Amino acid sequence: MSKMLYIIGLSTFLFSCASQKPSTIRKTSARTTTTTAKTPVKPGPVTGVPTSRTGLTVLHGVEFYTQNIGDITKNDNTMSHGSIVMAKPAGYHVVKTYFPAVAQNFRQRYVILHYTALDEDKSASVLTQQAVSSHYLVNNKRNDEIYQLVDENKRAYHSGISAWRKDKNLNDTSIGIEIVNPGFTTDASGKKIFVPYDEHQIKKMAALLKDIVNRYQIPPTNVLGHSDVAPTRKQDPGPLFPWKKLYDQYQIGMWYDEAAKQGFMTQMTPETFMMEQSNSTFIFKVQTFLQQFGYEINPTGAWDTENMKVVEAFQYRFRPENYSGVMDMETWAILQALVQKYPQK
Ligand SMILES: [Zn+2]
Repeated sequence: MSKMLYIIGLSTFLFSCASQKPSTIRKTSARTTTTTAKTPVKPGPVTGVPTSRTGLTVLHGVEFYTQNIGDITKNDNTMSHGSIVMAKPAGYHVVKTYFPAVAQNFRQRYVILHYTALDEDKSASVLTQQAVSSHYLVNNKRNDEIYQLVDENKRAYHSGISAWRKDKNLNDTSIGIEIVNPGFTTDASGKKIFVPYDEHQIKKMAALLKDIVNRYQIPPTNVLGHSDVAPTRKQDPGPLFPWKKLYDQYQIGMWYDEAAKQGFMTQMTPETFMMEQSNSTFIFKVQTFLQQFGYEINPTGAWDTENMKVVEAFQYRFRPENYSGVMDMETWAILQALVQKYPQK
């Protein structure tokens, strides 16, 4: 990693991501697990030697579970492949081969993607020395390196105040990936002009994402951009982020089915859509669909500036050719297709 990582004191005013220090009042996620073990686990040998039953193994001096020790039918991500962090109380021995519980899953339930809006050296400096951080930093070099800045089992400060579906403060439950990209400039008319991602950087990022999504069994609905979870504050990773390519070529994240979209397009003529556009009942319905899909929005029956930022964030993600923030007929058809394909459980 570059020596420049350790340069301290660069300005953060351009940096895209808000910090979130640990709050003193932590909300506990209501993911109560009510599993019942099918086969009671009997005590193993007193020596604590790794057994084939629990699948414990040692790699580079670190113990790992290598097989599923939970019940994968109970929730989305009980596969255990992670390293084991354990207490070492003075004078006592923590034994972990006897009673591996079936009622467990990973805390890492989301991946949140960002661009840094800075060059690589400044990105690394800010993310390692200041009040923001991410688990990974994806450079734009033609090499095989990806930088890890925070252990996956620890919380990084990348998403700030954030929400998706029933979850809030997603730093608590996510892996944050920052991608070196300049972000956007604004032209004379006020339109945001974004900078494309290079193909070699996309490949690098896709490989990293694939690895994380597979290890933690993260569902497609939980692979998100910063603008999805903080739409009124953030634009990253922007409309040029290759969401469709990730879905088509790497089976990562969400995308709508074209046939479903076309089906919804035929349910209204452009003329009836024009008439409905300003109808408060229709606006309330559209806002409710955005909320059902996952965005934090309060349905009121009228569009305001914050609502339009939510629509713009949705367009960055699913209709990047035109991110006006106006709910047009095509955006509405795509939204309906997505709500149908990815319903909230
Ligand atoms: Zn961000």
